[in-house]
Amino acid sequence: MNGAKILIVGSSNTDMVIKTNNFPAPGETILGGRFLMNAGGKGANQAVAAARLGGMVTFVGKIGDDIFGKQAVQQLEDEGINVDYVAVDPENPSGVALITVDRKGENSIVVAPGSNGTLSASDFDKAIAELENSEFVLMQLEIPIPTVGHIARLAAQNHKKVVLNPAPAAVLSDELLKNLYVITPNETEAELLTGIKVTDEQSALKAASVLHQKGVEIVIITLGASGAFLLANGKSEIIAAPKVEAIDTTAAGDTFSGALVVALSEGKTIQESIAFANKAASISVTRIGAQSSVPFRKELMF
Ligand code: ADP
Repeated sequence: MNGAKILIVGSSNTDMVIKTNNFPAPGETILGGRFLMNAGGKGANQAVAAARLGGMVTFVGKIGDDIFGKQAVQQLEDEGINVDYVAVDPENPSGVALITVDRKGENSIVVAPGSNGTLSASDFDKAIAELENSEFVLMQLEIPIPTVGHIARLAAQNHKKVVLNPAPAAVLSDELLKNLYVITPNETEAELLTGIKVTDEQSALKAASVLHQKGVEIVIITLGASGAFLLANGKSEIIAAPKVEAIDTTAAGDTFSGALVVALSEGKTIQESIAFANKAASISVTRIGAQSSVPFRKELMF
């Protein structure tokens, strides 16, 4: 661990996963395969990814006063993550996600956000000292977007580098975008953010340019098995992912963003950081689950 400190603000959920041959049609009940319960939520997943890959991580989130939340925080602590600033909501349950994975490794997910949905600006303000100690702030969109906007503004004012993984897909204000150092949408999210359908390198450049013009310094569009498209300093390129056999893409994007920030916190170039993130995420798709699929630094040989 020799990088700058990373503050990750976001959701934590308990993921309940069922493997199945095919997804059920609306109104249909089918018998699935194995059931697994894992700690998940994009914020917690990214915190675990960053910690396993060598980052010095503090996680800020909000749980309910229940067993699921307590377990989720305990697991983060077991990963070596600082959880001192996790808030507790006495009124709402901890977040839960119901996930179905088909035989091709595609997933379909319903999230009940619970306490993640009440993480407020004032909850975050208790962690201001931690913001001052960190160089990078990583967020996603499973907490209220006004809270994300508040934190991005504060972080930018304090000259911290804000990395946003804009998932699940949402339209974002120009005010939020201008406070971002890096944004990491996948193709679907990039389309929702820009109105441009990303189908090839040319359309990726168009979509990335829209975000760049709104003030995001570095735009990375993840392209699944093809790796990631980068636009930075007026230059664009595709950085390929290693070829692997995917069995479950849950948390691929989370592993990518967590890994990216670790490499950046170690002072690696953006191209090196994307190669590191591609490597980590490509390993995660060869395994089942969210946090359970995230690799450790020693597996990357980077
Ligand atoms: P999300 O999971 O958020 O939809 P992507 O599907 O773009 O995002 O995947 C994120 C990253 O995970 C990719 O940029 C790549 O590094 C890695 N990845 C995803 N699918 C594969 C795959 N089939 N083979 C290798 N790497 C993959």
